[in-house]
Amino acid sequence: MYDPKSPKAAEFIDHGEALDTLAYAKANCRNAQLISQILEKARRREGLTHREAMVLLDCELEDKNEEIFALARQIKQDFYGNRIVMFAPLYLSNYCVNGCVYCPYHQKNKRIARRKLSQSDIVREVTALQDMGHKRLALEAGEDPKMNPLEYILESIATIYSIKHRNGAIRRVNVNIAATTVDNYRKLREAGIGTYILFQETYHRESYEKLHPTGPKHDYAWHTEAMDRAMEGGIDDVGLGVLFGLELYRYEFAALLMHAEHLEAVHGVGPHTISVPRIRAADDINPDEFANGINDDQFAKIVACIRISVPYTGMIVSTRESQACRARVLELGISQISGGSRTSVGGYYEPEKENTTQFDVCDNRSLDEVISWLMELGHIPSFCTACYREGRTGDRFMALCKSGKILNCCHPNALMTLKEYLMDYASPRTLEMGNALIDSEIDHVPNLKIRNLVAHHLKAIQEGSRDFRL
Ligand code: SF4
Ligand code: SF4
Repeated sequence: MYDPKSPKAAEFIDHGEALDTLAYAKANCRNAQLISQILEKARRREGLTHREAMVLLDCELEDKNEEIFALARQIKQDFYGNRIVMFAPLYLSNYCVNGCVYCPYHQKNKRIARRKLSQSDIVREVTALQDMGHKRLALEAGEDPKMNPLEYILESIATIYSIKHRNGAIRRVNVNIAATTVDNYRKLREAGIGTYILFQETYHRESYEKLHPTGPKHDYAWHTEAMDRAMEGGIDDVGLGVLFGLELYRYEFAALLMHAEHLEAVHGVGPHTISVPRIRAADDINPDEFANGINDDQFAKIVACIRISVPYTGMIVSTRESQACRARVLELGISQISGGSRTSVGGYYEPEKENTTQFDVCDNRSLDEVISWLMELGHIPSFCTACYREGRTGDRFMALCKSGKILNCCHPNALMTLKEYLMDYASPRTLEMGNALIDSEIDHVPNLKIRNLVAHHLKAIQEGSRDFRL
């Protein structure tokens, strides 16, 4: 029985409700009147239920599909403007006791080299990341209670925050580690993490159990209820995601939005971010062996429909996607991307001597190349980390988002953090483009007082000061 307020995974991701939703959407995929009504609701920026969103995803009417994409672009523009927040993954360890069949870190893979960063390795990795210009990291580690206990993750977070190389600093550490206990989530919160990210991989329980045949991750309910424990442990911002390609994408889409509704119903705040990874090739993983892969058009439609359905939730795309695909989905709703990423353990400090990579990167460009490319496309690359550091998290953050007031912070912060990047790390070409962009964008800060303040801070950054934020 579907119950978004239930603490039980089987009830808030009710299989019957997911199947009924798919049938309802299929039956209405050419129902112009219903689709128009749903679009009207979406235009009021109220978000959509999973059923309504599913109808849009299945819509087969060409003119309505054009409206869906146009609305996604409009909502992206209204809520996120032309800013794109930058981050990088940092792999701490690829030891893992799980048996996930789509990931080369699974325990039975004897071909891959195993590596865990020591604290001095982390200093080298983070120094390399700082020297690229990164300010925001997503920590990644396999699940291995002996090799990667929580104490190791906590020590690593403290190390990362302590490193200050030249003008560099990692100002926000998001964490993507296995589902754990409320106590452990509390400790992560006390360590000062930003978002806790955990991909569901697939919401389809039967598939989930087959795809995770061994290890603690096999327990569907433990994994699916993790975000509730994280929030109980005081973590305000959580990030959802599925790995598209494992199950039928329509099921994943409906269930992902059911999960978002559950968080809103129980905790009063939906997910901070949604990631949309697609399965990629890796050491002993061949994506062609997974029958449910989605093409670029389906991927773009998913991004557009998520953007419309949960306008206040940031959306993340990684270097799993190509440059061309990233350019397309940036317009449709993506608000955060990674750049210059290494998906191996220790890959930033030295190119891989041995294979420790989790997946093959599709966009291999350097961070500087990604930054200049974003500006060429008309986006403002942002290294902003202000909200979490100002205590704007959870429902406080969402209230500011819903009132539109957050925009008074995002745009100025984007300009100031881009200026820092330009001063400290940019190539001459990127520096020139960036300064021209900032000169034109500062006129778009509507409030005169804030505009003058930002101009003052930009001048100070030019003269060597750092870390201004609103
Ligand atoms: S997806 Fe995560 S839990 Fe599964 S094998 Fe890979 S690192 Fe381990
Ligand atoms: S001001 Fe807050 S919401 Fe806006 S980009 Fe910065 S951290 Fe994100």
